[in-house]
Amino acid sequence: MTIEIATLFPEMCEAVLSASIIGRARAKGAITVNCHQIRDYTTDRHNRVDDSPFGGGMGMVMQAQPVFDCWKAVAAQSDVPMHTIYLSPKGRTLTQQRVRELAELPRLFLLCGHYEGIDQRVLDRICDEEISVGDYVVTGGELPALILTDAVARMCENVLPSPDAYEEESHFNGLLEYPQYTRPEIWEGEAVPPVLLSGHHKNIAAWRREQSLAVTKERRPDLYAKWSKEQDGKGFL
Ligand code: SAM
Repeated sequence: MTIEIATLFPEMCEAVLSASIIGRARAKGAITVNCHQIRDYTTDRHNRVDDSPFGGGMGMVMQAQPVFDCWKAVAAQSDVPMHTIYLSPKGRTLTQQRVRELAELPRLFLLCGHYEGIDQRVLDRICDEEISVGDYVVTGGELPALILTDAVARMCENVLPSPDAYEEESHFNGLLEYPQYTRPEIWEGEAVPPVLLSGHHKNIAAWRREQSLAVTKERRPDLYAKWSKEQDGKGFL
């Protein structure tokens, strides 16, 4: 998997992507992430990449030219086709299911907007889809792109120790995860559920399943209803 991130703040992305699990995955070549400075592609003699919106209104809009030239230059760096995503609050909300699908693609191009956004003409020209990280607005596409990169990367081979590391986690199978505990066995008078200390793998699995269903039902009745319907369809309920 190669992820190309086009941004006005590559140093912000590099700082996050050099740390922890994703940093180690990059270092050992399990994934490739390249950050590209959109400003490097401007033909404006003052190095500008934005201008005021036609029709008036607040703020600035990123211009089509530097974004398009950046995208063309990055595309030309490899024969592997790119799936281009604009991170945008107007996009489809990211889900674990979409993350899994994106992780199957060989190369992603993530476009980060700033200010009021990006000239619609270049978005129409290059984007395959728009993805939102939620129904709220942040100042730039960098944090959303980092969320998407992290979520996709951990689905890729050799990033996590094994698929078990994510298959039991929240959202993978449509449910939320069971509660987790670690040492000490008693903390501030609160004991760990005894079944987890029993060493009985079947009982532990059954307890975790029960907890997972209960937590999902209580916190996310929407997910629980969807999961129940799917199980019903498979003849499991
Ligand atoms: N004027 C835009 C609007 O109302 O839809 C918001 C622009 S926002 C201040 C600047 C940039 O942050 C956007 O171009 C986008 O790349 C990114 N962004 C903000 N919120 C986002 C979200 N929820 N999901 C993904 N990207 C987001």
